[in-house]
Amino acid sequence: MDIIEELRKCRERDIPYSRVLSSMCTVPHPVALKAHELFVETNLGDPGIFVGTRELEDRVIRLLGELLHNKECKGYISSGGTEANIQGIRSARNLKRVRNPNIVIPKSAHFSFEKIGDILGVEIRRADLDENYRVDTSKVEEMIDENTVAVVGIAGTTELGQVDDIKTLGELAMERDVFLHIDAAFGGLVLPFMNKKIPFDFEIDGVSSITVDPHKMGMATIPAGGILFRSEKFLRALEVETPYLTSKYQFTLTGTRPGTGVASTYAVLKHLGYDGMREIVQRCLKNTRILVEEMEMIGFEPVIEPVMNVVSFHCSEAERIKEELYRRRWVISTIRNPRAVRMVIMPHVSEEIIKEFVAELKQLLH
Ligand code: PLP
Repeated sequence: MDIIEELRKCRERDIPYSRVLSSMCTVPHPVALKAHELFVETNLGDPGIFVGTRELEDRVIRLLGELLHNKECKGYISSGGTEANIQGIRSARNLKRVRNPNIVIPKSAHFSFEKIGDILGVEIRRADLDENYRVDTSKVEEMIDENTVAVVGIAGTTELGQVDDIKTLGELAMERDVFLHIDAAFGGLVLPFMNKKIPFDFEIDGVSSITVDPHKMGMATIPAGGILFRSEKFLRALEVETPYLTSKYQFTLTGTRPGTGVASTYAVLKHLGYDGMREIVQRCLKNTRILVEEMEMIGFEPVIEPVMNVVSFHCSEAERIKEELYRRRWVISTIRNPRAVRMVIMPHVSEEIIKEFVAELKQLLH
């Protein structure tokens, strides 16, 4: 068989995005694809060779920084939210050298923090949530001690799209002189474009670093995560010497890394501008409301009133329903506490898809 034919056959077995309501990734914007193609050979691990690509990364970081209220922030485009979270906490740990470091995270944190505990050798302290599934800031306060190197707040939780009270966490971080990392991997490119303003970024004093992923709501090509630091000192805490490269130091986690995410992120942000991004986010929010209405009509109740385009519905048989849907080539996910089915209304999830999905779910229930 011709190799390309073989590849095509494998690719055809993938489930198309039009049947996927579980993913925080989406079909890249057409302009992102063009940009990706142009930069497919680039390696930002050796920036003295890819001088133009490196400059573009500075511009991307500036654009993201502007959006998140800090033009002067420093950072880079990573392999995703996991790497960005690792690097945020690694910076915090390196800046405060203690024998038994710990971090305080919400119980709702993404599983990347499990890896962080393991890789960085930091104890993970999980703070309880309040009745709205936001971290209970008084519990966070109780858990901070002299070995706490960072506190984490989440702007757009993976399961419910909830946003922690970052303002109070910021005050706490200032009072206790501790690093505050915000995981806005998903929400970072949703919240700035919502009508309701929910503060979560560098405008809050005390926020030291932010994860914000263009390969989620930024419609960039994978891989494109982002880590932003309030100022250079946080980034410098990650430096290692690179004796045989065109650069002297490297602060990224990976060595060889693609410039495609940089180019595709830049292309989308510049092409759409804030107005274009707002339009897409608003459409996702409208479709989320449509999904909630449709689901309510067949007896489902959302766990919380959706804050953004992530929504979970109470469901005692969540696992069985997920599996039955998967057999019909629909992909949703589930959460365990409370037992619920979860959906993410990404730009590829249109009103028609929602209606088709709910009709099939209704059939399956009867
Ligand atoms: N943080 C949050 C809040 C997420 O929802 C995710 C992924 O869904 C991540 C981090 C990890 O991102 P990635 O899968 O790009 O490493």
